[in-house]
Amino acid sequence: MTYSMATALALIQQKIRQAECMAQRSPNGVRLIAVSKSFSAQHIRLAWQAGQHAFAESYAQELFAKQLKLLDLPIEWHFIGPIQSNKTAMLSGAVHWVHSLDRLKIAERLSRQRPAHLPALNVCIQLNISGESNKSGCTSDALFDLAQCVCSLPHLKLRGLMGIAAATENKDRLLAQFLSLKNLFDGLNQSGFSLDSLSMGMSADFEWAIQAGSTMVRIGQALFGERAKTPVV
Ligand SMILES: *Cc1c(COP(=O)(O)O)cnc(C)c1O
Repeated sequence: MTYSMATALALIQQKIRQAECMAQRSPNGVRLIAVSKSFSAQHIRLAWQAGQHAFAESYAQELFAKQLKLLDLPIEWHFIGPIQSNKTAMLSGAVHWVHSLDRLKIAERLSRQRPAHLPALNVCIQLNISGESNKSGCTSDALFDLAQCVCSLPHLKLRGLMGIAAATENKDRLLAQFLSLKNLFDGLNQSGFSLDSLSMGMSADFEWAIQAGSTMVRIGQALFGERAKTPVV
């Protein structure tokens, strides 16, 4: 099993490098974040042993349960799921990155509750790039004000933007959605922000996200195998 995890990891890293090359980007500009939701702490441990050190979870309870089993590993934890107010106190000290920030109230709580001994929490603002009403994320109209407010919070560090493309195999549509996020990212940097992270791309679409300028891909199933419907705690 360790062998197959190492093989799966090497294969994805190779595909990421190939996509960088196809996009005529310099190598190693894209980080792999392993999405471990619904996979066990043991899967994470095996991936760690194979050299993967950044993991992402979508459900707070599931994250905390796995963290208790992995206290011996200095994992870089990312949170990528919807954030409820009653989870911010625990989350603020449990992770290094939050990709799914989409409203000010949550930002204020995370900043206020971030433990003082820890460095500022890295955050990305999530945009709804697919335009689907059931998807979370702020609108492009609200982005500039939210970004400014987040930058004024002392215990958050605004690193970039995150988006989830529509579940489609239409490459033009995927590319258009990723490019729209890249444009918003460039626009913020042109107006004085200094963002360095563009979190976009999952198992099914990361090559297109890299084509459009992604710097962090969030990949679960292509690494760990097909995901069960219910989370494992
Ligand atoms: C589950 C999830 C992923 C990973 O999806 P895969 O298809 O397993 O690669 C990436 N980003 C977010 C926000 C997710 O919820």
